[in-house]
Amino acid sequence: MLYVMLRLTQAPNLAIATLWADALATEGIATSVQRQYLGSVAGELPPDQCLPEVWIQCAEQETLARKLLYDLQHVPQHRWHCTCGELVEGGFEQCWNCAALMPL
Ligand SMILES: [Zn+2]
Repeated sequence: MLYVMLRLTQAPNLAIATLWADALATEGIATSVQRQYLGSVAGELPPDQCLPEVWIQCAEQETLARKLLYDLQHVPQHRWHCTCGELVEGGFEQCWNCAALMPL
């Protein structure tokens, strides 16, 4: 089996990148999240170079990984506005800004 790191996608934030990576790992796809520490120097870089990326560690799994990722990105009713004004995406049921729970 070839081990060629391949960039699967860019995530809007580290929480979502981690969520996707964990979901892929659950399906047996080895992943890693890159650039997760660049947030501290975000002011120094263009925004599109500060976002976390999900990489897969075996390029042969790309097709499966992309299918799973598509499913993750198209889960309905997983985007909501918190009362604090934050838009919470990625399947979270708790606001990462103020820790409020998703309204029922
Ligand atoms: Zn909130």
